[in-house]
Amino acid sequence: MQSFYTEEQEEFRAVVREFAERELAPHYADWEKAHRMDRSMWTAAAEAGLLGLAIGEEHGGMGLSDYRFRAVIDEELARSGHHAVGLAFHLHDDWVLPHVLAEGTAEQKERWLPRMLSGEMVTSVAYTEPGAGSDLRAVRTKAVRDGDHYVLNGQKSFIGNGVTGDAALVLARTDGSKEARGGRNSFSLFIVEKQDHPGYTAGRQLVKMGLNASDTAELYFDDVRVPAANLIGAEGQGLDLVHKHLPQGRLAVAVGGLSTAKVVLEHTLRYVSERDVFGSRVLDFQNTRFELAEVSTRLEAAEAYVQQAIHRFNAGQLDLVDASRVKLHAGSTAQEVVDRCLQLHGGFGYGTETAVAQAYLAVRLLTIFGGTNEILKETIGRDIASQA
Ligand SMILES: Cc1cc2nc3c(=O)[nH]c(=O)nc-3n(C[C@H](O)[C@H](O)[C@H](O)COP(=O)(O)OP(=O)(O)OC[C@H]3O[C@@H](n4cnc5c(N)ncnc54)[C@H](O)[C@@H]3O)c2cc1C
Repeated sequence: MQSFYTEEQEEFRAVVREFAERELAPHYADWEKAHRMDRSMWTAAAEAGLLGLAIGEEHGGMGLSDYRFRAVIDEELARSGHHAVGLAFHLHDDWVLPHVLAEGTAEQKERWLPRMLSGEMVTSVAYTEPGAGSDLRAVRTKAVRDGDHYVLNGQKSFIGNGVTGDAALVLARTDGSKEARGGRNSFSLFIVEKQDHPGYTAGRQLVKMGLNASDTAELYFDDVRVPAANLIGAEGQGLDLVHKHLPQGRLAVAVGGLSTAKVVLEHTLRYVSERDVFGSRVLDFQNTRFELAEVSTRLEAAEAYVQQAIHRFNAGQLDLVDASRVKLHAGSTAQEVVDRCLQLHGGFGYGTETAVAQAYLAVRLLTIFGGTNEILKETIGRDIASQA
């Protein structure tokens, strides 16, 4: 069978692996305790060529729009156990960047892409609010036009890279209405920079069950004057653009989950071959072999599905329904596989510092973030119903 990755992508893998050993392994435990990564990590990642992969040569990038390069990064960060770095990169490269690349004006690209590439401008996605997660039409942060600016007021919650980041892609209501929920054209997207826009502050950090090296925080916008030149797309287009770029975000979650589960299976195979119970290896129990047979089969099927989705994404054919399906499948499969593998570790698997427990805590997020499983089923179910 032909390898899924090209030679060039395998060479890139070696770069990512070396980066993880050199820049992440020595510091990661400290970052977990501090609940944030050092900013120097972003600079080092940029120097290694791991940020802004799809940014074109005209802005100093390599134009690596083939998603397999992003998948290689995920696989290597899962292998090295640096799951929180994987999430941080996802937000920057899979959620914010596509909006700037596809919707940005020439001036906006000139202003932001080189800084996103160099790690100087670390970005967050600021959609969720205390009263609006699955239901983005309930977003209350508002942006009111005032001359050549918009004035932003509101609060966001659960924002990754929220404390350490420099800029956020903010979804805000621009229709001026007092209705509790907006319509399709009631919202707009803005890039808001902390440094340039006083009144933009990070608040309380969420204490999470896993992925502790990633900072997840509340953001506040208090009379923040944002130039109209920071509007992404047209006023009122915000929700359409969120939906347009969701396929990449959802594919990213699927790839991250699959990568983690594959590594956990490898760890598990090693563990059960070394652990003796009742005078035989755990691997020698029929139950263990049956468990491994089932989880490895599920993973192979998920991998084929994810790889097909990557090919479709590269061809510009992965729509929102496809991406929702692949996230639904890969996210749930990864959770199940990691849970069953943890069981095979016995009490050792319950120690939070073990690789399997870290993975267990990381994959729990997969069916919540980027669209809960229930919302994914709504998207898929509505599509099916529309064809009936
Ligand atoms: C660690 C972490 C990091 C995050 N990072 C970011 C980030 O960087 N940027 C960002 O904007 N957001 C982020 N989020 C937010 C995340 O996307 C939301 O938590 C998610 O969309 C769900 O929204 P909610 O938490 O408000 O849950 P709710 O929408 O309140 O849902 C509660 C429950 O109700 C279910 N439900 C909701 N609607 C329906 C329905 N129509 N039918 C059936 N069931 C339904 C949900 O599936 C869920 O089970 C993050 C969250 C976490 C935990």
